[in-house]
Amino acid sequence: MSHPKKKWGQHFLRNRGAVARIVEAVEPAPDDVVVEIGPGEGVLTEKLAALPNELIAVEIDPELSERLQKQYGGRITLINGDAMEAPLPPRPYRAVGNLPYNAGTPILRRVVADPNCRRAVFMLQKEVADRLVANPGDEAYGFLTLFVRLYASARILLTLEPKSFYPPPKVRSAVVVLDPDRKPFASESLIHLISASFRMRRKKLVNNLTTFGAREEIVASMKRANIDIDIRAERLSLEDFARLHDAMPKTI
Ligand code: SAM
Repeated sequence: MSHPKKKWGQHFLRNRGAVARIVEAVEPAPDDVVVEIGPGEGVLTEKLAALPNELIAVEIDPELSERLQKQYGGRITLINGDAMEAPLPPRPYRAVGNLPYNAGTPILRRVVADPNCRRAVFMLQKEVADRLVANPGDEAYGFLTLFVRLYASARILLTLEPKSFYPPPKVRSAVVVLDPDRKPFASESLIHLISASFRMRRKKLVNNLTTFGAREEIVASMKRANIDIDIRAERLSLEDFARLHDAMPKTI
């Protein structure tokens, strides 16, 4: 056992029941590659390697990576690198991992937006998982909710207490299953609009949008999209944002 390294968010899963449920939830098709992110000491890797699918594991810690390489040899492909940058397979794959807290959100965003991802089963902080399943008006509803919803539908598979890990983290964790559900209107400029809309959460939407043009112009766009001009971003659904995007000046 190596000493857990805080800088890489190393909290190793010690709950065997949770390991089994996570691996079961991956459900890869015969030709899906399985990509494990942050295998660590290999508690999930052991079960994933028993599947008939090709397994690629991406681990940033050279020490743990070397250990897994020795253990599995050529049976799995180990990439010692950063999952925020490492190449993702150019063919259908399913991603799985107990993600490090410090890099969980960017890794999640990257994988979920990737067209080859057929499913992702990710352990995250419970607070982040709650954002993925939030509805308009909920405290947890915001940019991340809508970003992920552009590409996938999310459900919480299970919730875990800190004692399920070594060392125990400060917060609860949850496993989320994300299945592709790419919206036809997904675009960089819509993401830009949503991001600007939540910049100052307590402000009215119109005030956050004046970065895109004169207030009268924004008000006119909101009216064209049939959106209440006094509303806050947290009340709008993804479809409302898509409609607003269509009604906005084409320069955004
Ligand atoms: N899968 C193991 C488990 O469940 O016990 C380890 C989970 S631990 C929460 C997160 C793992 O991700 C650690 O092994 C850590 O070294 C690795 N990690 C952290 N940042 C990473 C990154 N940017 N890319 C790839 N792996 C990373």
